[in-house]
Amino acid sequence: MKEATREILERRARHIPRNLSILYPDDPIHVVQARGQFLYDASGVEYLDCMNNVPQVGHSHPRLAEVAARQLSAVNTNTRFLYEPLVDFADRLSELAPESLEVCYFTNSGSEANELALRLAHAYTQRGGAVALSGAYHGTTTALIDISPYKFDRPGGNGRAPHVQIAAAPDPYRGPYRGPTSAREYVREIDDAMVRAEEAGHPVALMIAEPMLGTGGQIVPPPAYLPAAYAAARAHGALVVADEIQVGLGRVGTDFWASRALGGTPDILTLGKPIGNGYPLGAVVTTREIAHAFDNGMEYFNTFGGSPLSCSIGLEVLHILRDEELPAHAAAVGEYFMDGFKGLMNAHPVIGDVRGMGLFIGVEFVTDPATRQPATALARTLVSELRKQQILMSTDGVDDNVLKIKPPLVFTHADVNRVLEAVDSTLARIAL
Ligand code: PMP
Repeated sequence: MKEATREILERRARHIPRNLSILYPDDPIHVVQARGQFLYDASGVEYLDCMNNVPQVGHSHPRLAEVAARQLSAVNTNTRFLYEPLVDFADRLSELAPESLEVCYFTNSGSEANELALRLAHAYTQRGGAVALSGAYHGTTTALIDISPYKFDRPGGNGRAPHVQIAAAPDPYRGPYRGPTSAREYVREIDDAMVRAEEAGHPVALMIAEPMLGTGGQIVPPPAYLPAAYAAARAHGALVVADEIQVGLGRVGTDFWASRALGGTPDILTLGKPIGNGYPLGAVVTTREIAHAFDNGMEYFNTFGGSPLSCSIGLEVLHILRDEELPAHAAAVGEYFMDGFKGLMNAHPVIGDVRGMGLFIGVEFVTDPATRQPATALARTLVSELRKQQILMSTDGVDDNVLKIKPPLVFTHADVNRVLEAVDSTLARIAL
């Protein structure tokens, strides 16, 4: 480890809390530069980035650097003044959003967007209950931890709050119901959760779910699930919130929105991560009717949300996605990637499942394809072996045995070949 890197570690230990985790703790990466799908460390070593889903249009995009510098040197203030970037960004975002969603709120993070979605749903329904999916993560505030089993059900968590009910995540590979025809059972889970909430005296304001689940382990629900799940929630008077913080903005390739790709239209769409490509930015897009209910006399003001700077950056991200045709590129490269992984399954039976859409891919490792016993240790070893080959990936899922692939959308076919070769040769070395 270089002296400068060791020094950062020592200084972090002094004033930075320990529960800010560090990737590859035995050999952490001291980044100094990034470009496109590559990160560079202090020694100039280049890493292929398969894990960062925030820099959707690529790290350090020159158009974003230019727009940010121009706006910072012109004016940066708040939404109580009039300026074009706010309305330009809102125009473009609502043009891209599903038709019924036309009112935009801007925030500084995904958590703030989901927190605002809670307030909107409470205001509209005058209810306090919530339904979320097992393994879900929706953000870091107190109210969002309550609807995030990924946090409240794991170390340090306080368990499920009385106003929250959890339905099983629609995981057709490992969940309680399996296979491509399991949608009906998973929809019944939503219905049951709604009934439990009503019986507990907490009628449900909102069902919140990622259309495809990130922290849950890159899960793609079975066909027909999403629209039926949304209908089940609405039948109980709940609003539907699609958390597209990870999966929105073209990542899934065939559609700009994962919910629409799967046939569902939410009442509230929440965005974050890639919408600022690294600049802190989140958004909520909803119907005029819901926005009207929230306009109840209390001003909604957010000091930085909707600033000229953040809106200029967000708008430029949307322009770059269009100009560089990145969603279509993600669809093509993602399909090639998944085909490649499926091609490795024969030689490596530890690969139990390959799933995803576009450049949102999960590869699940098992000790035996018949029992589907999670191969958690193997997945971790693979990640650390790949790091030695300058390929950065992470694992997730309830059993931490799912390789998560969610690179910047500029990822190329050649990058895919490099990853597949590395995974193939590494598995040949380390698998049982
Ligand atoms: N929802 C999902 C699905 C997320 O992945 C995240 C971030 N990991 C959040 C919400 C919270 O976003 P942020 O960290 O920007 O507050």
